Amino acid sequence: MNRKSLINKDWEEAFYWEGCPLCYLTQKALRNYMENFLYENVNDVSLRKEIREKGGFCENHHLQLLTFRDLLGVSIVYEDIIKNYIIPSLKKGEVPKIKSCIFCEKEEEYEKLYIQGLSEVLKNQESLNLWKEIAYDFCNPHKEKIKILSPETYRKIEPYLSEKRRKYPEYFYKSFPWDKDYSEIFLKKLRILESKKGK
Ligand SMILES: [Zn+2]
Ligand SMILES: [Zn+2]
Repeated sequence: MNRKSLINKDWEEAFYWEGCPLCYLTQKALRNYMENFLYENVNDVSLRKEIREKGGFCENHHLQLLTFRDLLGVSIVYEDIIKNYIIPSLKKGEVPKIKSCIFCEKEEEYEKLYIQGLSEVLKNQESLNLWKEIAYDFCNPHKEKIKILSPETYRKIEPYLSEKRRKYPEYFYKSFPWDKDYSEIFLKKLRILESKKGK
């Protein structure tokens, strides 16, 4: 029996996802991280200090945090940012800025981890066949990332990509791919953009 690693199992699950499998994996990991953050780490003083020093969160991740509807957790973090970063900055006549976002950093970490894992996963013939057979195409930003981080993996998958099924680019608004409300908002925005283009 061949024992498959955890990352292998994660990837095989992602191959069944109807959309970019890497979006699925990174967003799923990030969602777990955010959930933990809201329910357990919100009171972690050193983490809160780090967030303050970085100037809060980027817009996309701020919106993602709100999807948990955990108003208590969110208000604890935001109260801290407003009281201890935004107001003091304004008093000094400085415009508060987001320098970096802990969730962007995490997301990148997960992407790297999974891309490294993918090169191993596709060495397994069974997993490679599964990928060829059922997985959807990668979104463009992730194709670029795979190309940069693991050129040999990209060379391996490239010949099959043009035949792969594609999903509308859910990564565009960085909503969690399974969050239907956000997908709907995204589609509405796309339609509005399209109609504007026609004018
Ligand atoms: Zn993707
Ligand atoms: Zn971010």
